Amino acid sequence: MASVELQGIRKAYGKLTVADGIDLSIRHGELVCLLGPSGCGKTTTLRLIAGFIAPDAGQILVGGKRLSGPGQAEPPEKRNMSMIFQSYALWPHMTVAENVAYGLKLRRLPSAEVERKVDAMLKVAKLRPLASRYPGELSGGQQQRVALARALAVEPETLLLDEPLSNLDTNLREEMRFEIRRLHDEFRYTTVYVTHDQLEAMTTADRIVVMNAGRIEQIGSPEDIFLRPQSEFVARFIGGTNILRGTASGRTVQAGALAIHWELGEGGEIVSIRPHEIELATTAPDGPNVFPGTVLRHTYIGAQRDYLIDLGDTQIRVVTALEQHFEPGSQVFVRLPPRRCRALVR
Ligand code: ADP
Repeated sequence: MASVELQGIRKAYGKLTVADGIDLSIRHGELVCLLGPSGCGKTTTLRLIAGFIAPDAGQILVGGKRLSGPGQAEPPEKRNMSMIFQSYALWPHMTVAENVAYGLKLRRLPSAEVERKVDAMLKVAKLRPLASRYPGELSGGQQQRVALARALAVEPETLLLDEPLSNLDTNLREEMRFEIRRLHDEFRYTTVYVTHDQLEAMTTADRIVVMNAGRIEQIGSPEDIFLRPQSEFVARFIGGTNILRGTASGRTVQAGALAIHWELGEGGEIVSIRPHEIELATTAPDGPNVFPGTVLRHTYIGAQRDYLIDLGDTQIRVVTALEQHFEPGSQVFVRLPPRRCRALVR
């Protein structure tokens, strides 16, 4: 296993800068998720780490050894890495066991050792009962487990995963998220995992790297990223939020007629508050940040209710418990608890 270090990585395709000065230090044995919207440069960053492409500037070190520099990259086959793609790329004419053995045979290990390693891997990945089936006889989730087992069998220094679950249906995807984390806890390979799905990142990652337009917006543990977003982009992308913008004065942002007191963050002209942290009431509660509003939209979403409230200058989304039922057109009061309001600079 090895640490992976990206230092000042830049990559452009023509006029489009896809990686715009990426600095990232991944610890030995850590699982890091690159998370961001489509087109923000996640896959390009992964391909740079894999050695499929070379950076225009900056360098990549793996285990302290420089493998990529400007215009130069040690090719993938010379890096001890395994990569898993969206399409599992299993060999259709090989059984599960033969697929898992493939990389080991390529490395010309003695056949007794191949057999032992394959068997151990099939056991961990819970694939033993399927060992003699062909990929065409497996479900999507099972195929993905084979792809993982095949990648792990060669004991890579680094494991790279590119949207590995995006071809699975919702239930399977959820199950496989836990599976990937379980396998990581078992093997502790240094892992870089690309996804646009925040739940996938939160379930699997030790740390999440939120990317936006070729840059890193924020790096932190899943809790850090959700509870302490440092920008409007991160607050919106992870968990969703309401953004109120105005002029700053002390611990207040004046957004039109609304004076919003905040207690989280470092200051700035933006206040962020999550929909589920806003309170709704029919009579005005005491204290600051209480504003009258009108219910514009009510949506029943199973365990909760989702409201859009008109506050005059702005509209705000509120998610409440089921018991709080207001019809569209109702006059209500919203309370934005100051200890849930986070001030942001950008
Ligand atoms: P993500 O994985 O976050 O969806 P990508 O890294 O795949 O994003 O792509 C980032 C941007 O770079 C996109 O606008 C994409 O169209 C562009 N891009 C990626 N690869 C190439 C390429 N080989 N040639 C030209 N443009 C590319």
